[in-house]
Amino acid sequence: MKKVDLSFQSCKSEYEESSVVLFSAPLDNTTSYRPGTRFAGNAVRVESIGIEWYSPYKEMDLKDYHTVDIGDLELPMGLVEESLDEIYITATKIISDNKKPMMLGGEHLVTFPVVKALMEKHEDLRIIHLDAHTDLREEFLGRRLSHATVIKRCYDILGDGRIYQFGIRSGDRTEFDFAKAGHTYMQKFNLDGLDEVIEKIKDYPVYITIDLDVLDPSIFPGTGTPEPGGITFNDLLDAMKKFEKLNNVVGADLVELAPMLDSSNVSTVVAAKALREMILLLHK
Ligand code: MN
Ligand code: MN
Repeated sequence: MKKVDLSFQSCKSEYEESSVVLFSAPLDNTTSYRPGTRFAGNAVRVESIGIEWYSPYKEMDLKDYHTVDIGDLELPMGLVEESLDEIYITATKIISDNKKPMMLGGEHLVTFPVVKALMEKHEDLRIIHLDAHTDLREEFLGRRLSHATVIKRCYDILGDGRIYQFGIRSGDRTEFDFAKAGHTYMQKFNLDGLDEVIEKIKDYPVYITIDLDVLDPSIFPGTGTPEPGGITFNDLLDAMKKFEKLNNVVGADLVELAPMLDSSNVSTVVAAKALREMILLLHK
């Protein structure tokens, strides 16, 4: 594992002593509209200088826990399957060392190889998915591997009733029908019902994937496919507080930040603060 000098916040521990491994996966290939997610990892690292290590929400301090930030993975730009293999290899190594992966996208497709790696250790894995988009297409623009198909690919290996989607407000009819038929649990528009879902799956291994475009574009414009009508940052913080009731969160990701699409950099700060809360969640 390489180690970089530019790291998120105080995440400068050695790999061996760390129970959470942060890495960024700058995959930016299948984005259907506005690209730029490849720059998210290091943009968040730079912007993290401006936020505190201490979380008054969790009453936990990043510096009290060992987290290593191994930086941006070196992905072969343009080669989707090879890039996913690289992410899979990294995730497998982290998981087999009994550490938790905390991944920063990249486009949402990066979630699939991590879920694949986790499924090899945790057969009864459950996924909580926050997103504006269903991401349940069978294929998109002729590709089975796309940020618009990623949750469907996860479904292919998890099966019925194990994926819990929240905040969804965009997709085609067939995707909503697929959820309605009971293949996934889907809460449209907001995070209602999260308490019940958490109560139901709290003893299972759970992976949390957060597509940051679940947030309203008024607070998170820096993303490739902004979708009006989203949740607030406080809604997201509330959800992260609720996630603490899960007894076995085995990994998480934050995806789809495209920093250059927001010249104010506020979207990057939003991602940095969300990342601090998620790292602390994984240490809980
Ligand atoms: Mn999305
Ligand atoms: Mn997505």
